[in-house]
Amino acid sequence: MAKKIVAANWKMNLLRKEAISLFNGLSKSLLDHKGAEVVVFPPSIYLADLLQVTNTGIHVGAQNFYFEEKGAYTGEVSATQLKDLGCSYALVGHSERRMIFGESNELLFKKIKSGIEAGLHIVYCCGESLEQRELGNEKTIILEQIEVLRPLSTEELNKISIAYEPIWAIGTGVTASSSQAEEMHAFIRGVLVDLFSESISDYISILYGGSCNENNAEELFSCQNIDGGLIGGASLKQNAFLQIVEFSK
Ligand code: PEP
Repeated sequence: MAKKIVAANWKMNLLRKEAISLFNGLSKSLLDHKGAEVVVFPPSIYLADLLQVTNTGIHVGAQNFYFEEKGAYTGEVSATQLKDLGCSYALVGHSERRMIFGESNELLFKKIKSGIEAGLHIVYCCGESLEQRELGNEKTIILEQIEVLRPLSTEELNKISIAYEPIWAIGTGVTASSSQAEEMHAFIRGVLVDLFSESISDYISILYGGSCNENNAEELFSCQNIDGGLIGGASLKQNAFLQIVEFSK
């Protein structure tokens, strides 16, 4: 069975005091929480602050890193440095990184490999644009994006979760209906069977992301192939996020 995961992608939001206060609030509420693994992806400058909080049932992860281990890469941080700091997770392939920063599937594979080698659990994001969906190409696009994982070994796949995030639903307030989301999650599960095996496909968590909030999470999380969520906007509000976590049980 795939592990349930609910992750907060804070993107480039919050000032330091706000980030620490939100994290402390979540930590207090989730200390004895049973159920989904909860992960927070803060802006990288707050990682060290959040990692200092003790008594927290929350994993902390990085929104981005570079695939080289060290060297002359001004402005970048490596997966090894993140792991050394105490991070356990990292995002790779978010549509904002693909679209705004031009990250290709080839680059994303290098990031996945180096993240796993450093000991991070990777949440690999995929998703189609509205135009691709309107042309009926959503499954072809997702297939191409998931095929990036093909060279990974069984051990490496143990350190991978997938987030299906239709770009037209990210930050727009328009969420995929539960049947649209479940159809794509089932498709991804099938692709994983074809690429790897039934048992590998069964243990890879597939999260839904895209305007998931406290009003629609319950229905989305009740779908057979939805193993939790990657939450953007709604993760910046403590009560909304806690409610979403509650629905993942
Ligand atoms: C995201 O960017 O990962 C995301 C899911 O954002 P939102 O929930 O705001 O749509």
